[in-house]
Amino acid sequence: MKIYNSLTRNIEEFIPNEPGKVSMYTCGPTVYHFAHIGNLRTYICEDVLEKILRFSGYDVKRVMNITDVGHLSSDADTGEDKMVKGAQREHKTVMEIAKFYTDAFFKDCEKLNIKMPDVVEPATNCISEFIHMIEVLLEKGFAYKAGENVYFDTSKLKEYYVFGNQNEDELMVGVRDDVSEDSNKRNKNDFVLWFTKSKFEDQALKWESPWGVGYPGWHIECSCISMKHLGDKMDIHCGGVDNMFPHHTNEIAQSEAYLGHKWCNYWFHVHHLNDETGKMSKSKGEFLTVSLLESKGYDPIVYRLFALQSHYRKPLTFSYETLDQTAATYKKLKNRIAAVKAEGDVDEAAVKEWHDKFAEAVGNDCNTAMGLTLLYDVLKSDLNGSTKLKVIEDYDYVLSLNLLKAEEAEDGDDELSAYVEGKIAERAQAKKDKDFARADAIRDELAAQGIIIEDTREGVKWKRA
Ligand code: AMP
Ligand code: ZN
Repeated sequence: MKIYNSLTRNIEEFIPNEPGKVSMYTCGPTVYHFAHIGNLRTYICEDVLEKILRFSGYDVKRVMNITDVGHLSSDADTGEDKMVKGAQREHKTVMEIAKFYTDAFFKDCEKLNIKMPDVVEPATNCISEFIHMIEVLLEKGFAYKAGENVYFDTSKLKEYYVFGNQNEDELMVGVRDDVSEDSNKRNKNDFVLWFTKSKFEDQALKWESPWGVGYPGWHIECSCISMKHLGDKMDIHCGGVDNMFPHHTNEIAQSEAYLGHKWCNYWFHVHHLNDETGKMSKSKGEFLTVSLLESKGYDPIVYRLFALQSHYRKPLTFSYETLDQTAATYKKLKNRIAAVKAEGDVDEAAVKEWHDKFAEAVGNDCNTAMGLTLLYDVLKSDLNGSTKLKVIEDYDYVLSLNLLKAEEAEDGDDELSAYVEGKIAERAQAKKDKDFARADAIRDELAAQGIIIEDTREGVKWKRA
């Protein structure tokens, strides 16, 4: 397995800390609004990375935070608190907003076949852990108090810009222009670990701390939550490319200052989805959500395919025209797969051979486009139908494109019913003729198309898997 590491700016052989096991952390959403499809591009690519690791035999533990406090509208500790702004917009409490948009996020993930991480932890669950880390950073001299806030002192580090050769302007991608200088900071890049004195007198969520009643800065949550669940050494940390600076740079600064050793070995960054006018955002233009795509008649899985067709390290531009092309590609692909009949015995050796080919293709820095090419190669191959379906099922673990699921029947989808009823009648006849092999083959053929049949006292019933 090879993976591009933003720390070294090289594609590297992936070597986990513990053989066979992977600890993986994903920066979760800030739950003040719906996720846009740009955010979800990042989560799709991270989901694919996790599944490729599992497909290749690793035992993965993946942790994700939910940012429900501390994320200001500029990543550089200025602007309004995103959660408070969301609550004001909707005349609700911050916790109501957090709950609503956390649920909405996971609903979107489900529609896109993004697996739920093993651990999901809201920042507001971990205040005591944040306070502990800040206390240690103060003791070790990496933090200071000023203007009643606690700051991390970046001048105490040998190297702060760990993501290397980018110039500062490039790194400022996560930071807004409208930053007003915070005069408490000793150095330009120092960042807030704990706010007690802030511009937001109306800050909704506050906690007791040794420095007064207040709330944590944004960066501390990812360091603490990942260490809480994954320990002091981590294999892979993921996020969108805008997280590289200042968020991930600050995470590394405080984590390694706290631990006194290297913390995370591989940094995985997904490039942005742009619209035709530039970077996608929640405040600009049409707010592109999964629900919006659905309301326009798109199956969310078409968007997943759209994301998988490109490489995660390249910017991707969204347009309805390209999405339409992807929808047509998806339909054709599904039809080709639906036409494969479950015939012959599964050739297990061939399944293993094609499994390994796929693992190598997608294991080369998440080359999902190459994985899709292999899927077409399987369809073109001279494997028998049952073997093809088995390989497709195997690939779909990573691709998660519902490749074997029968199309959702729309109201009055008589065609599907007629087809299934026909197959059920054929199976009943085969049973009558004592041709049980044929009867079983019909059941398997339907199962491969996502149709489950059950023999009940009232007769044969069927449903979608
Ligand atoms: P947020 O909810 O703003 O904290 O962002 C959630 C995730 O989406 C983070 O990993 C961001 O880096 C990522 N992200 C933000 N904008 C985009 C975009 N336009 N394309 C891809 N990923 C993005
Ligand atoms: Zn984070």
